[in-house]
Amino acid sequence: MPTVYASVDLGGTNIKSVLATADGTMLEARSVPTLSHEGPAGVIERIAALVNELGRQTPDRPKALGLAIPGLVDRTAGLTKFLPNFPTQWRDVPVRDLLASQVGCPVYLLNDVRMATLGELTFGHGRTARTMAFFALGTGIGGGVAIDGRLRLGPLGAAGELGHHTILPDGPRCGCGNLGCLETLASGPAIAAEGVRLMESGLAPKLYDLVEGNAGRVTTREMAAAAEAGDKNVAEAIVRAARYLGIGVANVVVTIHPEAVVLGGGVAQIGDLLFETVRQTVRERVGMFPTDGVAILPSALGENAGSLGGIALAVQGGIV
Ligand SMILES: [Zn+2]
Repeated sequence: MPTVYASVDLGGTNIKSVLATADGTMLEARSVPTLSHEGPAGVIERIAALVNELGRQTPDRPKALGLAIPGLVDRTAGLTKFLPNFPTQWRDVPVRDLLASQVGCPVYLLNDVRMATLGELTFGHGRTARTMAFFALGTGIGGGVAIDGRLRLGPLGAAGELGHHTILPDGPRCGCGNLGCLETLASGPAIAAEGVRLMESGLAPKLYDLVEGNAGRVTTREMAAAAEAGDKNVAEAIVRAARYLGIGVANVVVTIHPEAVVLGGGVAQIGDLLFETVRQTVRERVGMFPTDGVAILPSALGENAGSLGGIALAVQGGIV
């Protein structure tokens, strides 16, 4: 029987757990609601119950568990430091030890987007591209960087916050406090807000039809469909956001010269219009070296990048 590893992705809405073998073959997967209002002790008990229930489906208990945390962690001490979207922010909660005692195996913590980067590095495009940047394009923009086959974390595990470099010096205020971060220009809500504005100005008839005029239903998915159906102004808004993203990608390309830049998350589902614009912007803006060898790609693992990153972390026993 191959050894089994566990991974858990702690999200604001759901806790997702996966069991897999060391080569990334997924055996079991299940989600339960997070119910973060129950506080850390209650949520940790739910994580343990989920992992233990999955563990009973396999002959052997998981040997180790990788836990993705939506915020800052102290990996050495096994504490959560700051979870911005959770009640009480989970400051200095000893999650590693609390959970390890309830699941009976070692637990390793890592920020969720760095975890997805590790997944992509281990089981996705990183198998051939050993220097790689990962942009997670969703409600916010997260990221991670791997250099010469190793995920790089820096002293606080914060290396790779690719959504928070300045693209427009006097741009919109960002959640991090800065002005004009990439996240304020190319995140899902940033792009959708422009879609809503266009629709309400009478400039996006296809989008209006798609969401029946309901601004709350406008996401990048509907905008991509409206652009495809002929809404030129919506296509233009997507291209503008993708150019900003391309500038962000170009900045990362000259910093670490990756072999691959992986764009994941819901915004990446926009597809060709986004990817082609980013590729063109990188060609235009990187002049220091040829960029033919820099592949700009959708995630090879899709929504499983984080789960498989947790398996990789469990297999290697933390970040080495
Ligand atoms: Zn920011």
